[in-house]
Amino acid sequence: MSKRIEVNDLNVYYGDFLAVEGVTLEIEPRTVTALIGPSGCGKSTFIRTLNRMHEVIPGASVKGQVLLDGDDLYGPGVDPVNVRRQVGMVFQRPNPFPTMSIRENVLAGVRLNNRRISKADADDLAERSLRGANLWDEVKDRLDRPASGLSGGQQQRLCIARAIAVSPQVLLMDEPCSALDPISTYAIEELIGELKKEYTIVIVTHNMQQASRVSEKTAFFNIAGTGKPGRLIEYDDTATIFTTPSVQATEDYVSGRFG
Ligand code: ADP
Repeated sequence: MSKRIEVNDLNVYYGDFLAVEGVTLEIEPRTVTALIGPSGCGKSTFIRTLNRMHEVIPGASVKGQVLLDGDDLYGPGVDPVNVRRQVGMVFQRPNPFPTMSIRENVLAGVRLNNRRISKADADDLAERSLRGANLWDEVKDRLDRPASGLSGGQQQRLCIARAIAVSPQVLLMDEPCSALDPISTYAIEELIGELKKEYTIVIVTHNMQQASRVSEKTAFFNIAGTGKPGRLIEYDDTATIFTTPSVQATEDYVSGRFG
């Protein structure tokens, strides 16, 4: 299920503006990789290129390669919708469909993919996905109630359930806890620990403690100044990045001296 991601010399543009330059890295299956760095260095831009979400912005484009188990996501004839089915994404703010029921939210991606499934299979998939997102016990008695009745942390786990319901190989998370209280954050971090047994996970976080708690690998991005492109400065085991990084800028950032 889980797949390897290989990024080769990736440049990411908004129109003429080069937002991220020359990123090369490899992400192993069944690992959590944290993307860290100061605001504006291109973390969100970069993560969105891993499932071709970047190109939904008018004028946005990429150069370079993103390979999923060797297959170029940007190759000729590749359907971006199919890419997004394989590489799911969870955003900063939980974005369930508020009036839709909890059950239908979980199934929304599957229905969008036009997969016809029987009521029994749908119920089974909803339960498995909600269990996978550690939400089942909290919602099993109100599956037909609107998602808007859930707390922020529950809504975020609902979005994770919706993402895993389509059986992706990779899960991207762009600051998934930034709108959540500490207890909900803890629940999501625990969940990430479970999900990495099955999925390749990439997470953008501003929270250094979170990066060191949840990830095996950390990629530090930085920017030389306004209008300059963001670059990958250092990519290594998380423990190394936080204790003995090789680049001074990484050390300055992780020790809180800037950013
Ligand atoms: P980070 O996630 O590290 O804070 P972003 O990826 O959001 O950084 O931003 C990287 C650069 O791309 C910034 O200069 C930002 O202004 C620019 N940028 C982000 N989104 C857009 C957009 N939709 N259109 C044009 N420029 C953008």
